[in-house]
This record gives sequence, structure tokens and C-alpha cells, in this order.
Amino acid sequence: MSWETNSGLQAMRQLSRLLPPGGLKDREKVERDMEEMISRDYEPYFSGNAALHLLAECQRCGRCCREEKSIAVSIEDCRRIARHLGLSQKRFMMEYTRPHSLKAAAVGSARLLCKEEGEPCPFYDPLLPGCRIHPAKPQVCRAVFYLSKMNLLLCREEKEIKAIPGCPADALLRERLAQFRRNLEDEPGAGERLEALFSSHRPEVDLFLLLLRLKGLEIYFGGDRAERLARRLGLPRLAQEDELRAGALLYAASLIYGRSLSGAKQKK
Ligand code: SF4
Ligand code: SF4
Repeated sequence: MSWETNSGLQAMRQLSRLLPPGGLKDREKVERDMEEMISRDYEPYFSGNAALHLLAECQRCGRCCREEKSIAVSIEDCRRIARHLGLSQKRFMMEYTRPHSLKAAAVGSARLLCKEEGEPCPFYDPLLPGCRIHPAKPQVCRAVFYLSKMNLLLCREEKEIKAIPGCPADALLRERLAQFRRNLEDEPGAGERLEALFSSHRPEVDLFLLLLRLKGLEIYFGGDRAERLARRLGLPRLAQEDELRAGALLYAASLIYGRSLSGAKQKK
């Protein structure tokens, strides 16, 4: 078994440390509420994009900062950026943000950074290059926006595992996934095993997929709502990105390469 597959499986098993004694609570009801936020019809696209979001690392080329029409910020983003800039949260929100253009039902308490269409983000500095608030930048800017890409309805409308054309972070991630697939080709049966893994009902897979979906909701709607859901399930906290990444690689590869994984060795 390749080390990536091994470490993905191990990481998924280790997530059981988050389980409350006696198992998850109130799961059916919480899942219904999750479903109201993002319909199950958008799976596996929603969680698949969450997996890519965790795996990609923005290369700070500045394209998004120059070209995106709007940049959404959650209340947590505002809190973190305000602290980074040495401002009160209220002052930051007054000076740098405005209400979101979408209804609160869709975006919760998210706001938009103040910027005119066609203008770069106020925090973009071409000399750095990139972001003046890099360590504290908004969640939507922290990866490659597979889920949000400044468009909170993307997954619903397009039902696909997004690629971000012209994004160096996306290109790097695709190469990493392609390399992972090549590694699988050298390992008899590995493709079949990976494909079967995510359609199995193994408890570690079930928990991983639940935590990944919660992470997606956190990225998509902000942490407050996702944390409330996690608490209702009896979880002490949401999974951290690091705890999900190794499993996310397996999941993203299984979705992107799908059935072709099983025939990988034969087609070589
Ligand atoms: S997300 Fe991609 S395109 Fe946007 S700034 Fe980062 S590397 Fe550049
Ligand atoms: S906050 Fe930073 S990373 Fe996000 S768009 Fe603005 S300059 Fe770019």
C-alpha cells in the first residue's frame, strides 16, 4: 500500500478520537439541518470541493486579488483580520466591509470587503507580491476557493468538482493528484481498493465524510454555524484541516479518477 494511502487511512481512523463516549448524538436531526444548508443532491461535489480546498495552497500570484468581483468575509474573518491590523472588530467592519449582496438565508452573517468592481482588493499589494494580511486573510482566500470562489452557489449550480483555470495552486494540486494516481498504477489492486473504500460503510469512512462535510459547511457558511452542528453531534470541536488532509487526498483522487482507478494498471 502506498504511503499516501496508508497515511490517509490512518488519519481517518484517528478521527475516532473526536467521537463522544457512546457515539454521535442526534445525528439524524443534525443531518437534516445540514441538508437544509446544502442539499445531499450536491454530494459528492460539495464535499469533493471541500477536499480540494483543504489540499490546495494558494501560491499568492495575485490573480484572484486583482480579478475577483467580490470577496466574502465571515464574522470570524473580520475578527481575525481586525486583530491582525490592530483595529477593533467594529472599526474594521465599518472601514473595510459592507453588507453581502446575497440574502442572509444564503450567506448567513457573511459580508463583503469594500471594493469597486474592476479594482483590486484593498489588501492587495503587487510589491509583496499578494496579500497584505496573508496570515489572517479571509477563509475564501486561504485555499483556492473550490467551494466559495466568491460565489456561494457554485456547487449547487454547476455540480462538478471544480478546476480553477489559470490558478497555479490548482495546477500544483492537479499534478499532485496525477502523481498519486501514477503511484497507484504501480500497486496491483490499489485502485480497486481505493474506489471501494468510499462506497463502503466502514465507520472511519463514515466519520471522515461527515467531518469533511462539516468542514465544507464551515468554509462555506462560516465556523459559527458549523461549530453549533458539531456540538449538537456531541463532538468536542470541528476537525482541523490537518486532520482531514490525508483522507481528503484519497477522497479527491477517488472522485476525480473514479472508475479509471480500477483499470489503471491494465491501461498502462
Ligand atoms: S488562488 Fe490561485 S489564482 Fe488565486 S491568488 Fe492563489 S494561486 Fe493565484
Ligand atoms: S484578502 Fe488578500 S488574498 Fe484575499 S483577495 Fe484580498 S489581497 Fe487577495
